[in-house]
Amino acid sequence: MIELADAIALVEATAGPLPPRRMRLLDACGLALAEPVVADVDSPPWDRAMMDGFAVRSADVAAASGGVVALDVVVDLAAGDVTALEIRPGCCARIMTGAPIPAGVDAVIPVECACDDAATAHAGSRVNLDDQKFRPGQHVARQGVAFRAGDAVLPAGSLLGAAEIGLAAEAGATHVVAAGRPRVAILSTGSELVPPDAVPAFGQTRNSNGPMLAAAVRLLGAEPIPLGIAVDRPEAIRAAVAQGLAADVLLLSGGVSAGDLDLVPDIFLRCGVEKIFHKVRHKPGKPVWFGVARREGAASTLVFGLPGNPASSLVCFELFVRPALMILAGQPRDAWHLPRASARLTAPAKGAADRPVYLPCRLDGPPDALTATPLPWTGSSDLRGFAGANGYVALPAGRATHEPSSEVDVVLRTYERVQPVGPPRAQSGS
Ligand code: AMP
Ligand code: MG
Repeated sequence: MIELADAIALVEATAGPLPPRRMRLLDACGLALAEPVVADVDSPPWDRAMMDGFAVRSADVAAASGGVVALDVVVDLAAGDVTALEIRPGCCARIMTGAPIPAGVDAVIPVECACDDAATAHAGSRVNLDDQKFRPGQHVARQGVAFRAGDAVLPAGSLLGAAEIGLAAEAGATHVVAAGRPRVAILSTGSELVPPDAVPAFGQTRNSNGPMLAAAVRLLGAEPIPLGIAVDRPEAIRAAVAQGLAADVLLLSGGVSAGDLDLVPDIFLRCGVEKIFHKVRHKPGKPVWFGVARREGAASTLVFGLPGNPASSLVCFELFVRPALMILAGQPRDAWHLPRASARLTAPAKGAADRPVYLPCRLDGPPDALTATPLPWTGSSDLRGFAGANGYVALPAGRATHEPSSEVDVVLRTYERVQPVGPPRAQSGS
């Protein structure tokens, strides 16, 4: 049995980034860029009207007496329209947001400033414009103010969220080179297990770990590969493990503790998986197993044997699997683990003398004055206390009870740092 911090450090030291890949832009959603995105155009690509109104020469407005300027409308320009016409002194263009500013003019007076009926003020008519707040150059986005062709608009390492994907699209990147998206095989073991669509008979248990771990994997932007259920027979587990070793990560649950049918550690070794640790001084989730299958000339597979009890499995996922997936995906160190904070207990929390404990809790209040309320939870087979928890109380070993008002460490259960996305092949064109 090893200490929690040592176990986490071993996972961090074993996992390494997957080789970057070139992929369609949208398939890189949630991933870290491995090469910068360089713009092939200026943004805006030309001087752009930012208001519906009249494109004018600032000199004409400056010369007008009493603030009102009378101008001849010589052309109508909707977004997408272009004109070769140069607007001469005393003239203006009726223009819509998004149209290129024609030659000769340099500012837009909003349509609301027309003294006459703006609906009739089109090419061929004369308008009187009264803009008390007029500034030369107003309501025009100049060519290249956002970026220039050749600029690296997104440096390597950028996490591709919605804004970054939009920016890359604008910069002309239909494809990007991004970190690999980890493929994670998920195998549930246990002869008592039945799929969630079956009503469990006496002695049977629904496989909740399979969907739960697939969800946890997907929420981190990795790709779950469900392998279903293997019964507690060495041949069945061995065949499924062999299949799982084709993925970047194998998450197996059940069969790793000390029962007669806990065959998994031995099968891992027979399948060529090198053990790195088995059993961590922590609750819930003590039986967790971690190792690596290394293959010459090919990528290795990280292998986690998670406890069968669902709450234990989930806590082990957060503690050990999460950092591994983040490292594989090339994410920055500050995204490897759930964020931590300190909070004041509102009710007693049950710790343990011999090992650190994670308890599901409800966190309330501002970040500098958080309170933590432990949620009713009956033990490691009880997922209900975890559903709806927005954090965990992380209690150090040594004390059976932590009194209300004591200050405790908490872990924020949040997925905000990464954009949840579906598997890449479900996405269409970029
Ligand atoms: P094990 O780790 O195999 O000894 O299992 C510990 C407990 O977790 C047993 O009560 C199992 O029935 C239960 N369990 C194992 N795998 C799953 C699973 N995939 N979904 C729900 N419960 C499970
Ligand atoms: Mg079992």
